[in-house]
Amino acid sequence: MKVAVCKEPKKPLVFEEWEVPDIGDGEVLIKVHYCGVCHSDVHIADGDWADWVTYPTVPGHEVAGVAVKVGKNVTWIKEGDKVGMPWIYSSCEVCDYCVEGDEPLCPNHEITGITKQGGYAEYMKAPGRFVTKIPDDLDLAHSAPLFCAGVTVYSALKHLNVKPGETVVVHGIGGLGHLAVQYAKAMGARVVAVSHSSEKEEISRQIGADHFIDSSKTDPAEEIKKLGGADVILTTVFRTEAIQPLLDGLAPRGRLSVVGAAQEPLHVAPFDLITKRIILTGSAVGGRKLLRETLQFSADFGIKPMIEVHPFEKVNEVLDRVRSGKVKIRAVLKMT
Ligand SMILES: [Zn+2]
Ligand SMILES: [Zn+2]
Repeated sequence: MKVAVCKEPKKPLVFEEWEVPDIGDGEVLIKVHYCGVCHSDVHIADGDWADWVTYPTVPGHEVAGVAVKVGKNVTWIKEGDKVGMPWIYSSCEVCDYCVEGDEPLCPNHEITGITKQGGYAEYMKAPGRFVTKIPDDLDLAHSAPLFCAGVTVYSALKHLNVKPGETVVVHGIGGLGHLAVQYAKAMGARVVAVSHSSEKEEISRQIGADHFIDSSKTDPAEEIKKLGGADVILTTVFRTEAIQPLLDGLAPRGRLSVVGAAQEPLHVAPFDLITKRIILTGSAVGGRKLLRETLQFSADFGIKPMIEVHPFEKVNEVLDRVRSGKVKIRAVLKMT
């Protein structure tokens, strides 16, 4: 089988021919049909997480395909099922976080495409208990990005406890943000899209945003305040300096969650915390329960990512497109 390997950071991925993996008890062999390209894959390829990633590695954690072999004791998945694999490859399954379906908080989880072979390959094996079924109504190409981009923002909105009628600001209208707009709208919120690019206004309105704020031309917090303030701000942007000005737009009891892993600190005055009782938090991917919900919710409400599909052979060019911000919304590799 053909595999794209990141042999060392800052070098193009290399195609290799590997044996199709054998599966053991409890495992599933997935024929990968599509694999989404996430910004994390660029971090892996560029060595930004070199302390954490062991090279060589096969990236790819937005895997959508078909179960072609099912090991003994796998009852949940049958051969021929449409299935996928997310960032969380496996976890300890017995800590309190795992028992509550909050596997991203498990101290002993494995990561698809980092500590285990990911989906930049024609086949991958995975533990059956972490293989997730894809609802019939979703096609494989559009399902792939739901396994990271989708579950990340869906989980964040669930953790933020979005209620119908609330004003939800989605900051950054890219792969994650454009799904967040659709989920928040389907949850009954009034949705405000904030982007520093006026080009995103048309897309934002197409996918259901009630308002659009161009943060390159106006003070976004002032504009949000004119709309009555934000009950929820979900920011998908990676730059702290772009997030900081939004804090002032939070209404009393407002909640802000970050899903972009910026390193620089956010500043908040304790005075604002006590007088407005605002909450600042963050969220990363999602556990199996929320992943199932993400997929079913997307199927029920007809929510799809906007994707550009490229052949697997172009993986290095696609990583370049992601790196330079040329991908319009989300890129997906077609494996065969
Ligand atoms: Zn990802
Ligand atoms: Zn655990």
